[in-house]
This record gives sequence, structure tokens and C-alpha cells, in this order.
Amino acid sequence: MAARVIDGKAVAASVRERVRGEVAAYLDEVGRTPTLATVIVGEDPASEVYIRGKHRACEEVGMRSVHHGLPGSTTEEELLDLVASLGRDVDVDGILIQLPVPEQIDPDAVVAAIDPAKDVDGLTPVNAGLLAHGVPGMVPCTPAGVMELLHHEGVELEGAEAVVVGRSKLVGVPVARLLLAANATVTTCHSRTRDLAATCRRADVLIAAVGVPRLLGSEAIKPGAVVIDVGVNRLEEGLVGDVDFAAAAEVAAAITPVPGGVGPMTIAMLLVNTLQAARGRALSAV
Ligand code: NAP
Repeated sequence: MAARVIDGKAVAASVRERVRGEVAAYLDEVGRTPTLATVIVGEDPASEVYIRGKHRACEEVGMRSVHHGLPGSTTEEELLDLVASLGRDVDVDGILIQLPVPEQIDPDAVVAAIDPAKDVDGLTPVNAGLLAHGVPGMVPCTPAGVMELLHHEGVELEGAEAVVVGRSKLVGVPVARLLLAANATVTTCHSRTRDLAATCRRADVLIAAVGVPRLLGSEAIKPGAVVIDVGVNRLEEGLVGDVDFAAAAEVAAAITPVPGGVGPMTIAMLLVNTLQAARGRALSAV
């Protein structure tokens, strides 16, 4: 294997350590603890595991977290009421609605109702619009984690060819915007892209955010590329990414593993966003 393996766990641990120090400083300055409110509707075991991980991470860096578990029969109106009351709650800095929500609820309507200043997932139309305009706002956690990994690896983005596979609102589109803001030349691929491998092979920096196990093999990797695999696909053999790790690692200069690459960064960046939201609210209260 030629490629350097990018250790997302280690980078995430250093981000969490940094946040821990900044939370202590915030507490000294402002006299209150940054607080994340999470909401789950219904009983989805995977969502509960994710939320428990987020609460544990808050606790480890000295933040407070409160959880609202609503029954699966909750109506959209009831959830919108809770989102509005969390928006008014002066003790809450960040609001996270764990998706998916049950089918009687329109997830877009709920996300749009989150106070943009508390939108630590960065998914409201306001924050997506700010990102599109290159104005600082709340950036979605996984794309922010991808950028943090590239930064930590010292990857030169200015003028680089970057290819993003996937165009979701959650990952692909915000990653492409962030790469563009960093002055990369960005191409976005999706399910209708004609020759995916040939397009990917142009990439100095390749970001895969698809959800198809091992879609991209060595034929899709430019020699010396940096490959960031966002995909998380559960197979019988365990978790695998959207990139064929063993094959790509023969060609790439650096590559993230799955698990242990982008995954740990997502929670770390949620902590960064919650602290950013708390700071923003403290400033606007002055
Ligand atoms: P998504 O909303 O399902 O979007 C998938 C994207 O991939 C779509 O834009 C789709 O194109 C494109 N696509 C599908 N099949 C393709 C193909 N054969 N060739 C080229 N493009 C194809 O998924 P997502 O939410 O962005 O998530 C993507 C992956 O990242 C998933 O595996 C997810 O589990 C993982 N993820 C990981 C984290 C983490 O923390 N590590 C966080 C979020 C997501 P169209 O638009 O044309 O349909």
C-alpha cells in the first residue's frame, strides 16, 4: 500500500481537545455553559446510538446537553412547537433534530423552522444560502469535518482539481461550496454523470459521498490524489466506504479509512458549531 492513511480519530480528538479549552474560556468570560438540545421523534435504535454519542461528546468537552424524546405519533405541528420553544429558550445554544423523522412530518419544514443562529447542523435554508454566498454562517458538520481533515493534512487546495461525487444538501453540495471557497476548481458528479471514473481520475482531491459500497476503484483515482471517503455502507463484513480502500490506496497519496476517517469528524464539528452558536448569541446579547 502506497497511500498514507488519514487518521480521522486522531484529528477529531485534537479538535475536541481544542474545543474543551475554548469551552472553559467561554465559561470564564460569559458565565454560562454552551448547551445543545437534541430531539428524536419515535424509536429508531440507530438514531438513539448517534444521539447518545453526541451527548457523550458534549459532556467530554464540558458542554451541557438536553434531550427531547418524542413519541412516534408526534404531529408536525407538535414538533414545530417544540422547535419554536427551543428557539426562544435563552439557555439553549444549539438545536439538533435527528433525522429521519416519521412520515407524517415534513423534514424540510422542521429544519426550516430552526432558528438559524442555533442551527448547529447548518441545514436551514438561511445557512445554506449564506454558504452559497460565501458568507460565514453555520456549516454542516460532515462537510466542515472534510475540510478540517484536508487542512490538517496540509493539502494545497488553491488551484487544485477537486471532484465531489454526490450532490446532497447534507454533504455533496456544501463540500463543493467549501472547496470552491478555498479556490479549488470543483466538479460535482452524481448518478447521471456519464463517465464517472474518467472524471474522478482528474481529481487531485477526490471526495466520495454517495452511499454505494466501493463504487470507486483504482481506475477512478489519479496517482498521488488525496481521497476522502464520506460513505458509510453496512455490509455483512462490516462498514465499508464508497471507495475500494485497498485498490485506491495503491494509487493515492493519502486516503481516509472507513470507519475511522470522516465519521469521527462529524461529532467533533458539531461541538465546534455549538460553541460558535453560543459565542454568536453571547455577542448579539451585548
Ligand atoms: P444521498 O442524499 O443519498 O446522496 C447520494 C448522492 O450520490 C446523490 O447526489 C446521488 O446522485 C449520488 N449517487 C448515487 N449513486 C451514484 C452513482 N452510481 N454514481 C454517482 N453518483 C451517485 O446521501 P448523503 O446523505 O449525501 O450521504 C452519502 C454517503 O455519506 C452515505 O453513505 C452516508 O451514509 C454517508 N454519510 C456519512 C457521514 C459521516 O459522518 N461519515 C455523514 C453523512 C453521510 P443523484 O443526486 O443524481 O441522485
